[in-house]
Amino acid sequence: MINEVKVIYKRYKTALNKLKYPDSWFWGRYTINPYSGCAHACIYCDARSNRYYLQQDFENEVIVKLDIDKVLESRIQNARTLLPDVVAPGGVNDAYQPIEMQEKNTLKILKIFKQYRFPINLATKSSLITRDISLLNEIAKDTWCTVGFSITTTDEEIAAFLEPYSSPPKERLKAIKIIKEKGPHIQVGTYFMPIIPYLEDNEENLENVIKESKKSGADFILFAPGLTLRDSQAQFFINKIKASRYKEILTPLLNLFKGKMQPPSDYVNKIHSKLLVLCNEYNLPIRVKRWIPNDYRKWNYKISEMLLNKESMELVATGKSNFNLKWAGLNLNNLGESIIDISKRGDLSNLPNFTPEIVDFIEPILKKSKDYNIRKGIDDFL
Ligand code: SF4
Repeated sequence: MINEVKVIYKRYKTALNKLKYPDSWFWGRYTINPYSGCAHACIYCDARSNRYYLQQDFENEVIVKLDIDKVLESRIQNARTLLPDVVAPGGVNDAYQPIEMQEKNTLKILKIFKQYRFPINLATKSSLITRDISLLNEIAKDTWCTVGFSITTTDEEIAAFLEPYSSPPKERLKAIKIIKEKGPHIQVGTYFMPIIPYLEDNEENLENVIKESKKSGADFILFAPGLTLRDSQAQFFINKIKASRYKEILTPLLNLFKGKMQPPSDYVNKIHSKLLVLCNEYNLPIRVKRWIPNDYRKWNYKISEMLLNKESMELVATGKSNFNLKWAGLNLNNLGESIIDISKRGDLSNLPNFTPEIVDFIEPILKKSKDYNIRKGIDDFL
């Protein structure tokens, strides 16, 4: 089904946004929105909340950013400190929503990122992405490319209610299969989020999403039980549920949230445990493998990935976030020198959040690496 939206053309001065820290799930360091607004109009979409200050009727008007590729290229050429890192297109819009068929803004920026060797992580609910497999495979071969399909149910009716204008789950699963076949260098998987309580958190659906993802050839599955309910987005979602054939979930849902934005941690922990068992059973990794640069950041990123993976696994297994693991992992991404040099100086314990346990965990890993002994200075990798 196509959502007939009003299309507006507008020129913007900026295209690329750099995050202070990488996203520890998708590894994105830069974001870019080829469009503003999203014709997929998912009823739970957080873009409806006030914090995004979108200037248009989010799901009925889509702004096409004119000359986005030229603006992007000039930003990359003029920036002296813009190191290649993972770009995550889309955020509060789907980079492969229907307008992409004619405007090709996503395709245009992908070509620029390929030229300047920036790795890419694309999240989508559209099978249109298969149009660009060969380009994405080239990017993956040269640097790194990950594609994640957001799939939260295998029930076509529930999906049509929650995500009325996206590709149906069957098509998304088929797209995973096609990417696996035609783009062998691309890392592809499922983003199992948001999992709507009382609609999608039953054991049958949890297993179906994991089983079907595995059958399609997914390399990973990232999951997040519950959803965020925030100001105007919460009201929109509640009104939609109230007017639907699923209205019986409203009372238990509101009782679960108790006026908060997130479901309580005991609920999240319960669903986490079930998902963990299923992912083990189907042998599906629950983390995305990170892109590792080949410059002075190489070991900073590798160690950061290890620490953040460890933190995430602990969170899923115990329900508790490990503050030091998380911040030690995140801060490493902003170091101006290699952690190997720091280790050789005996200064690891002076890094932010590097507790004695963290030093004991990573020091032997660094010392065992080939780079530890051959490396003389940061320029060796550049
Ligand atoms: S595809 Fe993503 S951005 Fe678009 S409406 Fe759905 S949740 Fe929002």
